[in-house]
Parts: sequence; C-alpha cells; structure tokens
Amino acid sequence: MRHPATPRLEAAWRALRLWLGASVLPAQCALCGIGCPEVLCSPCRVQYLGQGWEQARSRCRQCANPLADVATLCGRCLRQRPAYDATITAFDYAAPVDQLLLQLKFGARLALAPLFAQLLYDAVQRQPGWQRPQLLCPVPLGPARLAERGFNQALEIARPLARLLQLPLQPRLAQRVRDTRAQSGVAPQERQANLAHAFAIAPEHGALLHACHVGIVDDVMSSGHTVNALAAACKSAGAARVSIFVVARTPPRWITDMHY
Ligand SMILES: [Zn+2]
Ligand SMILES: [Zn+2]
Repeated sequence: MRHPATPRLEAAWRALRLWLGASVLPAQCALCGIGCPEVLCSPCRVQYLGQGWEQARSRCRQCANPLADVATLCGRCLRQRPAYDATITAFDYAAPVDQLLLQLKFGARLALAPLFAQLLYDAVQRQPGWQRPQLLCPVPLGPARLAERGFNQALEIARPLARLLQLPLQPRLAQRVRDTRAQSGVAPQERQANLAHAFAIAPEHGALLHACHVGIVDDVMSSGHTVNALAAACKSAGAARVSIFVVARTPPRWITDMHY
C-alpha cells in the first residue's frame, strides 16, 4: 500500500528538479541548442519569430480557424455557435512553435512561457476591435495530471499575459471536477462526451462571474472541445461573454489528418 505522504514527496522532488533545471542547467537556445542566456538565441528569434514570420492571416473571429475569404465567421461556427464568443491566437500549430510548446509542456521548459505570453500579447494588439475581458483564467488541469506534471502550462502562460494586459488573473476560478482522459487518446466521437461536466466554477467565485467577460488562456486549441466545455461552464455560472486566448491553433484539416 502506498504511503500517504508519497505524493507530496514526489511533488516536492519534482518542484526541486524544475527549480534546478531553471537555475543550474546551462542555458541553451530552445531551437538550435547553442549556448545563450536567453530562451531563444537572437538568430532563431529573428528567423522563426521575427516580424512577418506569421503572416497576418484571415481568421474566424469566433474560433480562430483560418478563413479563405474576408468573412468574419467560418462555416462551422455559423452552423453551430460555440459557447465562447471570440478566439485570438498567435500561430498555427506548426514548426517551430509546436516544438517550443512541447518543450514547455513535456520538457518543463518554463522559461518559454513568458515568451509565449509576449507573442500572444502582440497578436492581441494586432487584432482589430478586440474586446478586453474583465479577468483571465487558465484552463485548469485535473489534480492527477497536475501532480504528474508539476505545473499547469496554461497558468504559466496566463500569469505573464495577465501582467501584459493589466488584467486580474483568477487561477482558481474553474476546477476540473474529474480527471478526463487526454483528448488525444479518445476516439473523435467520444471527445465531447469525455469533457461533458469536466469543469465546475469554484463556488466562492460564482458571484464574480455574473455578467462578466471572461478570458480563458490555453497553450494549444485543437478541436476546441476543451475551451468550449469551460466556456459553457462559465456561461452557466452567469458569464456574459467568453474570449479564448491560445498560443497556437491547429487548423481543421490537420486535425482531420490526425484522425480527429
Ligand atoms: Zn537558436
Ligand atoms: Zn469559426
């Protein structure tokens, strides 16, 4: 039988390793591996993330999927309106941003989070007529996944983004009431059911949401089912509007390629 203190010891050990990784390991560029004090070296920054790298592309105002013409909403959103009202993204989920996001999430390269927040902030500033939410909240991880990973990548991005946007951050606004299976391991037709009732608004924050415009922050948006489930929970609790802020968006044809 497992000793009750074991999970706490494991979490402490993981936190220590994260701290050691951030402070002791030699600093390297996350893309080319050259030794440098920054998370990305200047040549990689200019080559991959410099101005004009991500072409200003036309995106659906509601779900941020790329649009071929000047329409403001995509066909999917017109057919079935999501629970969220707007989405802003900085990038398509493609190289090299996908590699950087994987390093943050699975390699615990937490120094990448402020860079993503800055890039997302820049994308927000480029978005004409964007509406400022009243508060930001990250997509929460379930307790088991949080204990396993040691951090929530959405919160790591949301914290510096809230500072840049000068918005209050509510990290505990929403909770995952059960640990859903990772969406990538669930058959497409079961994905929405996998997330049904996955989120609950913390009772002490219920009053805060009344007629509120909530901003939800996540690293990647693929099918959109996760943010849709969380947006629906916010709306059920009285939120008037929900905007999504994601570093990268998986275009729908790529989701199809991955047997979405
Ligand atoms: Zn580099
Ligand atoms: Zn759309």
